[in-house]
Amino acid sequence: MKILIVGGGGREHALAWKCAQSPRVLQVFVAPGNAGTALEPKVRNVDIPADAIDALLEFASREAIDLTIVGPEGPLVAGIADRFAAAGCACFGPSRAAARLEGSKSFTKAFLQRHRIPTAGFAAFDRQSFDPAYIRAQRLPVVVKADGLAAGKGVVICDTHEAAIRAAEAMLGGSLGSAGHRIVVEEFLSGEEVSFIVIAADQTALPLATSQDHKRRDDGDRGPNTGGMGAYSPAPLVTPALHARIMRTVIEPTLRGLRADGNPYLGFLYAGLMIAGDGTPNVLEFNCRFGDPEAQPILPRLQSDLVDLCEAALGGTLARADVRWDPRAALGVVMAAGGYPGAYAQGDIIGGLDAAARLPGKVFHAGTRREGDSVVTAGGRVLCAVGLGDGVAAAQAQAYDLVHAIHFNLVQYRRDIGCRAIERGEQRVAADGQDGARNHPPHAPELS
Ligand code: AMP
Repeated sequence: MKILIVGGGGREHALAWKCAQSPRVLQVFVAPGNAGTALEPKVRNVDIPADAIDALLEFASREAIDLTIVGPEGPLVAGIADRFAAAGCACFGPSRAAARLEGSKSFTKAFLQRHRIPTAGFAAFDRQSFDPAYIRAQRLPVVVKADGLAAGKGVVICDTHEAAIRAAEAMLGGSLGSAGHRIVVEEFLSGEEVSFIVIAADQTALPLATSQDHKRRDDGDRGPNTGGMGAYSPAPLVTPALHARIMRTVIEPTLRGLRADGNPYLGFLYAGLMIAGDGTPNVLEFNCRFGDPEAQPILPRLQSDLVDLCEAALGGTLARADVRWDPRAALGVVMAAGGYPGAYAQGDIIGGLDAAARLPGKVFHAGTRREGDSVVTAGGRVLCAVGLGDGVAAAQAQAYDLVHAIHFNLVQYRRDIGCRAIERGEQRVAADGQDGARNHPPHAPELS
């Protein structure tokens, strides 16, 4: 088989690496890929940007690609899956209509409300309808969100009403381009965040291993929000009881609602959840793709063939799929360029990759490119070093051994990835095999 992975970040490196392990796969192409994907056995980069749908389709047809897996949300929200389907090319990812779950926050909030799926209270505004009095009437802190895709910059948590009104006016005034022409003002939820990711095919959901990421840049969950500074799997917070509750109150009604609305879902579906003190899983957001950096620790734990699972989803046999997980924990530490998530330098030489390659664990590349004989930085999030171990603490130690072997100018990374899981005494969880998703069967609820 020939596989095409669309994208060039750490998630796509992990997807390409995993697909290349399938004995059925002859060649994996990554468009555009990065310096790490270029070095993987059976993997080749193709110089096509992830959002160039026409060129990707032309390449897939010419190369007779058997399966395309789309990494980032941009091309999915722009309708890549519809275009490939219309051309008879197998493409794993939701349609443009289903991808609106990520592409429009006001659409998603209305969807959640209509289908009685737990989420924060909200109101949506555009420039004409915006009413500062609504914000002044809210309890603090209050959350202001741009409606559209804003590359992680579209959410502001405000401690004062004035700050919230300023944030709303800036977005509506065009500070985030068209993404902010509509906004959602949302109640602040406290609790702990969990990423819950499934492979979905209409009414069937195959939950992947549980995970938690760290969104803030600095140790102790401080500093600005980022695309993610690290993640680990399993998430001890997600007990079997919570796992069942998330499936019943979030995933199943979401898939039923999408079907009822005429937009059945196919692909990775990622629910970003805030678990309240009373255990209620509130939906913060949906992503219409695998998480980044969650994919980097989750995929090394997947013992089943990812290509088989994607094909089962496309072929309507996901409910019979067999999925096996490595019982060990995995933990990924993101190494970012100095200044990220603000402005950062590019083109700095990355040293120590060969030494790291001789250590246990795996370094996935994100913002890297080859320059002559060197690998240099080419993005905000540069690498994700993943360790595996009997428990999160052991996985963490292996991941940081990799991190310490690698260096580049002004590198920044958190030193406490996995701290909450370790505090929770995760060894017990791993030993008991309580990872809710471990060898969990696919779930095919009856249509109501
Ligand atoms: P989103 O893109 O909607 O997931 O928001 C990005 C991040 O902002 C989330 O991962 C949360 O950490 C935080 N966030 C978003 N909405 C809320 C909320 N209603 N209450 C508390 N934190 C939130």
